Amino acid sequence: MLKRSKLAFLLLLAAAVTCVSVMPMTDLPETAFNEIDTPVNQTIPVAPWVKFVPPVEVRFVLPRSFDLAGDGTLSIGPMTTYTELVESAEARARPILGEVCAQIADVQVRNRGTIGGNLCSNDPTNHLPPLMAAIGAELTITGRSGERTVPASDFFLGVYMTAVGQEELLTRITIPAGRRDGFAAVTLGVDGTCIANAAASVNGSLRIALGCVDAVPVLIEADSPDTVREAVRGAHLDPPGDVHASSEYRAHLAEVLAERAARQAMR
Ligand SMILES: Cc1cc2nc3c(=O)[nH]c(=O)nc-3n(C[C@H](O)[C@H](O)[C@H](O)COP(=O)(O)OP(=O)(O)OC[C@H]3O[C@@H](n4cnc5c(N)ncnc54)[C@H](O)[C@@H]3O)c2cc1C
Repeated sequence: MLKRSKLAFLLLLAAAVTCVSVMPMTDLPETAFNEIDTPVNQTIPVAPWVKFVPPVEVRFVLPRSFDLAGDGTLSIGPMTTYTELVESAEARARPILGEVCAQIADVQVRNRGTIGGNLCSNDPTNHLPPLMAAIGAELTITGRSGERTVPASDFFLGVYMTAVGQEELLTRITIPAGRRDGFAAVTLGVDGTCIANAAASVNGSLRIALGCVDAVPVLIEADSPDTVREAVRGAHLDPPGDVHASSEYRAHLAEVLAERAARQAMR
């Protein structure tokens, strides 16, 4: 059992961390980079089925904010939580953002999980990587020597690996204006992890990103929802099979969900 003094100390520490983490920050101080000596992309296998991503206390220095430009472009700070995305008036400029964030896990995860953490961890079962790839988000990465912007389609490099290098941070997510989007997923139970998911967006062409079927979102294009299944088959998916779904079942779900997301986007 914890002694009272120890418990009081832990509660005080938790309160201090919460206060600091909600402070809006616009400029990235030099000290931010002292926090990231541990490579963000380096995962440490603890056991065959358990990963440990070395935590970096980026929440102390990164923005938690929205900025909606006159042309409808939305800039989001990486520390913005899912709940904030669901509730923000600005984020409604791209309604699919709030719709998908509202589906992530449970209320505790949505209150603490962040858009930046979701993208930087690049767990292939996450909701946001395929969504960002489908809607054409751009991700700004900042390092000591300046910043660069990467399209979401190039940001995800492998399981738990992204374009964020050593001594770099994801500092901004830029979402272009648009409303014709869709998302569909089959999850493990109501609040569970995705077994397969798909995000679709219409911007001239119909663009679909498939999640959970490869290490990174698989992008395909189709002429209409009627040809989506054929386009998915043309991608020659070879999804992993596990205790939740065989490879064949995941590939089948990818077709069904891609069509569902496409029909939602075309409504
Ligand atoms: C029980 C549970 C259920 C979940 N279910 C789902 C689900 O259904 N769908 C889903 O999408 N997700 C799910 N998740 C994942 C969750 O949504 C978060 O993405 C995940 O827990 C990361 O949390 P975080 O946002 O606090 O990021 P952190 O834990 O703070 O960060 C994750 C990693 O990214 C790095 N990082 C974070 N921000 C930056 C940055 N700006 N620049 C560089 N590196 C950075 C960190 O150093 C760390 O290595 C679930 C998580 C839990 C615990």
